[in-house]
Amino acid sequence: MHLSHTEVQDALREAVAGFLEKSADAEAIRRAEPLGWDPKVWDGLTGIGVPTLGVAEEQGGSGATLRDLAVVAEACGARLAPAPVVETMVAARLLARVAGTDTSGAAASALDTLAQGGEPVALAVRPATNGVATLVPGAAVADAVVALDGEDLVLVVRNDLPGSPSNLGSAPLADVSVTGEGCTVIASGPEAVAAHAIAVDEWRALTARWLVGLARDAQAIGIQYAIDRKQFDVPVGSFQAVQHRFADLATDLDGADLLSNKAVWALDVGDPVATSFPTMAFWFAGDTAQRVAAWALHVHGGYGFMEEYDIQLHFRRAKATRLLLGDPRRELQALAELLWGDEATGPIPGSAFRPTHGTGSVDSPAQATGDDGGGYDFRLGPEVEAFRAEVRAFLAEHVTEEVIETAHHTGTIHDWGLHTKMAEAGWISAGWPAEFGGQGRSPLEMNSLSEEMYLSGAPVDGLGVASLVAHTLLIDGTEWQKQTIIPEILSGQAMCCLGYSEPDAGSDVASVVTKAVCDGDQWTINGQKMFTTLAHEAHYVFLLTRTNTEVAKHKGLTMFVVPMDTPGISFTPVHTMGGERTNITYYDDVKVDDRYRVGEVDGGWKVMMTALVFERNSAWYGELVRLLDHGLTWARDALSPDGGVMIDDPLVRERLARIAIGNEVSNLLGWRAAWMAANHTLPGVEGTMAKLFTTEHYQFAGNELIDALGADGLRRHGDPSAGADLAHGWIEAIYRHCQVTTIYGGTSEVLRGIIAERGLQLPRNR
Ligand SMILES: Cc1cc2nc3c(=O)[nH]c(=O)nc-3n(C[C@H](O)[C@H](O)[C@H](O)COP(=O)(O)OP(=O)(O)OC[C@H]3O[C@@H](n4cnc5c(N)ncnc54)[C@H](O)[C@@H]3O)c2cc1C
Repeated sequence: MHLSHTEVQDALREAVAGFLEKSADAEAIRRAEPLGWDPKVWDGLTGIGVPTLGVAEEQGGSGATLRDLAVVAEACGARLAPAPVVETMVAARLLARVAGTDTSGAAASALDTLAQGGEPVALAVRPATNGVATLVPGAAVADAVVALDGEDLVLVVRNDLPGSPSNLGSAPLADVSVTGEGCTVIASGPEAVAAHAIAVDEWRALTARWLVGLARDAQAIGIQYAIDRKQFDVPVGSFQAVQHRFADLATDLDGADLLSNKAVWALDVGDPVATSFPTMAFWFAGDTAQRVAAWALHVHGGYGFMEEYDIQLHFRRAKATRLLLGDPRRELQALAELLWGDEATGPIPGSAFRPTHGTGSVDSPAQATGDDGGGYDFRLGPEVEAFRAEVRAFLAEHVTEEVIETAHHTGTIHDWGLHTKMAEAGWISAGWPAEFGGQGRSPLEMNSLSEEMYLSGAPVDGLGVASLVAHTLLIDGTEWQKQTIIPEILSGQAMCCLGYSEPDAGSDVASVVTKAVCDGDQWTINGQKMFTTLAHEAHYVFLLTRTNTEVAKHKGLTMFVVPMDTPGISFTPVHTMGGERTNITYYDDVKVDDRYRVGEVDGGWKVMMTALVFERNSAWYGELVRLLDHGLTWARDALSPDGGVMIDDPLVRERLARIAIGNEVSNLLGWRAAWMAANHTLPGVEGTMAKLFTTEHYQFAGNELIDALGADGLRRHGDPSAGADLAHGWIEAIYRHCQVTTIYGGTSEVLRGIIAERGLQLPRNR
């Protein structure tokens, strides 16, 4: 896995961005309206070799990969470059693809003209109807247009340019006749249709990159305005209503960034996942860019509507670009067909949609390391895949339906039998160094373990909490704790629970009042904690206490890791709507030796921060996949009102497709955090984004699916009437359960605040 550009790609981006910064400032873009065309910009990009960059050298190009073209597309999107760059780059590749079989020689000739510094070539992304390709992007300023007419790929070369209808995005669109003078058929039959389809997918993926560039610039403009503009004596960017919207959109935008890079990569390496990713990326990047631009405009108040302000330029183009393929909801239908239609060639044919990291097939040793020299690469590499396969086989054997059901019925998301077997197999300590008896597995391997656990339906809370306590002790604990408590946890003997929340301290956890008073080498603890999940199974509680009331509340906290069998600790159960059991814990004159203190006296907040990073970086996305699996199980079985099955109902398909896209975004945000950890960067904000997106999307998906089931969605999991055709009522159960995921581990509001202030540098909220 590799989630950054190569140096060469960075240099290419710099070259394009540097040129555009000088030649395509906002005034130049305004001057280029209404046609959206600036010949000087085109000449400059031609000088850098952009139009035929992606064509093989022997055909007059530079042999660049699609990933190389993607950095050009993004840079052009970020400057709203008034020239049909993506269209021409893609059309050039299409011409190159058919030139060898085109007996007319027209394709080769058009390519040659382009390579000599000619005018743009446009691609009709929608097939012609009745002999006309309508609103072809770039066609109003292009010398040639490539269009699909039935099964004919037609090259339209013209001497006179058609007029461009005045349009929302000020883009050089034109209606183009594909018959008559100047029109040459350059390919025919299924091959022509297939070649056009590849070109349209390349256009989708590169346009998604273009939209990400646009959206990043729109976001930056909006944030800067929100920092500069004061109302009520403070920057408007310090208002929570403003911050939270920015945080959501920034998270979506990072998701769109990753998804579009994955689409480009998949096409580049010819991975089977390429079939669905360009459509996903185009839909999601379009949706995100439109919302980012709309919000950036809104945050300008009335000024955003003034033509004089730049943000309206982004706003209009974001929407216009998204519509070039037609109604975006039809893209969702197209995606559903790719994933679940009769001809579906999805990543795992015939099974539920389960996003992959590629085929795992490796063509060269360089690819094995996840670095084929091409930049972004989403393959995990053979080592991680082998480990993952081992884990999957283990879980398939040990995570039985009984284990899953028991966890659900007891509400205790932990299974001692499974936990012990995992310890014996070395999975609990797998990510730890040899000195702790571990296997030194990388963060990528550990993320795949965690992902496989969620995918299998394993009860994961116990392992998750125990691991986060162990990791925090490794960073902030004493030598004695490292030598004593960590081995107990890693060997599977000791379970932990988290004693942070109190009746009056939830999100504002720094205001805890559970008191720890020092007396020599001993502490006496008194207080009450709410929601101490797993307290009834745990050997240790990671306990946040108040040790100083004379200082600011964050500065008077101390953390302990207290044995649960210490006299004075008791608990009562709390049962929840989602079925999970948690507890209230009471601490009554609990005597704790100082060796159980973690970190400095009054230094508990620092320990808490470390622990929270580990808590938010969990690979929850597996739960989303299981939910979608349940939805698919139902949709393939249940009858629709017209007598078919629900999976063929467009309403249902659209919901499923929308969920599948969000699942993939969640997956990518989670893997980005793991990749950063593998590269020795603590993914604070990025892990927060992953948690925010995943849990919000989980609720969205749960809501969509229970609605799709309609009245049958009411049947409760476990009721005999909720049979296999209703996925055993799991959608109902998940609908209840998913509500809590945006609460624990930090509520979505708290996470948005972190993203806004730490990630986007918006002024502190008051
Ligand atoms: C099933 C379950 C298991 C749990 N397990 C544990 C556990 O093991 N250990 C543990 O310590 N805790 C646990 N918790 C507690 C959980 O961490 C808290 O519920 C959570 O931190 C929120 O605190 P609260 O419930 O007091 O809500 P509050 O903090 O009172 O929040 C109420 C609402 O106000 C919003 N809000 C609060 N502050 C802000 C703000 N600054 N800006 C905007 N909105 C805000 C919140 O987002 C929320 O919507 C668990 C909770 C549940 C439900």
